[in-house]
Amino acid sequence: MQTGYVYHEIFGWHDTGTFVGDTPSDPGAGLQPYMNYEHSDTKRRIHELIVVSGLFEELQRISARPAHESELRLVHTERHISSIRNQSKNRLGGDGGDLGTPFGKGGYDIAAMAVGGAIDLFDSVLKGEVKNGYALIRPPGHHALPDLGMGYCLFSNLAIAIRSAQQSRPNVKVVTVDWDVHHGNGTQDIFESDPNVLTISLHQDRLFPHHTGDREERGVGVGHGTNINVPLPPGTGNGGYRYAFEKVVIPAIRKFKPDIIAVSSGFDSCVFDPLGRMLVTAAGYQELTRMLMEVADEMCEGKIMMVHEGGYNAVYSPFCGLFVLQQLSGHFKLSDPFGDSVNAYPGQELSEYQKTQIDKSAAFVADLP
Ligand SMILES: [Zn+2]
Repeated sequence: MQTGYVYHEIFGWHDTGTFVGDTPSDPGAGLQPYMNYEHSDTKRRIHELIVVSGLFEELQRISARPAHESELRLVHTERHISSIRNQSKNRLGGDGGDLGTPFGKGGYDIAAMAVGGAIDLFDSVLKGEVKNGYALIRPPGHHALPDLGMGYCLFSNLAIAIRSAQQSRPNVKVVTVDWDVHHGNGTQDIFESDPNVLTISLHQDRLFPHHTGDREERGVGVGHGTNINVPLPPGTGNGGYRYAFEKVVIPAIRKFKPDIIAVSSGFDSCVFDPLGRMLVTAAGYQELTRMLMEVADEMCEGKIMMVHEGGYNAVYSPFCGLFVLQQLSGHFKLSDPFGDSVNAYPGQELSEYQKTQIDKSAAFVADLP
């Protein structure tokens, strides 16, 4: 069996406008129009490297299709869906709801394609039709709330895919692992009272959103215990992430015994990202992927699917993506041209402070149902 791969050229056409990074331009404040951090190049170039490296030939392409509105309603309110759909007809598009999530005309249709791609990949991996898989979709999804788009996310791609699978398999057990540098607040919110979905987020402490992602947020009601946050200090590198996987993510997966592992894969925790202040390298992401594959083999017949989230360095994100997909597929085409330098940064080793912080989250694993 091959690794499933979702990509569609239309994802590069999602228009986030001439922002100045993450802020609208404003000449009076000195903010010159430029480009949004959330730009098509950071994703399109991942796909192009996958093609040019020859890895594409080893993958099983799963075509993206637009999600039906009934599928969006598995997570989102009618109000939110119609707000995006109606603004999408405007000549200049609209905003997801937080005034930081712009989209151009037709943005609804592109976002629906991202959701459809996530649903179909999740389904294919769960049914064992592909070995594992990666959905390189855009816009991202992990910040989106049922009634609000935020942080570049219009619809919660992964959460809708999980809710869709629950329609035919109500008791399917899922672990989500979010290694995007930002807190997976939307995914946490949607599943906070669902005991069958264990959500784990590793993120730079209070980077975005500023007021979510604390360790104390552990789920609600019957879902108490099934949300684990691992807030990490800025500067955490491969050693810190590996330790967090060894002490929190892998033991939690062993205890929870999922049917499938779903990763919110953001490369904004990488060493060159303009938004995050972490040090993970392509080799680091490969190692985290390898660790997940090992525990997936042990617990759930190797079933891992990943959906793309953030990652804003157009030079280095392609290597991070390539290395994850090389590991998932078992076909190794290229090495990391930046690796000799970045893998040797002194901060790559686990620090005492990082260890203390990670150990606090690790204490919650024992409480898992
Ligand atoms: Zn992010």
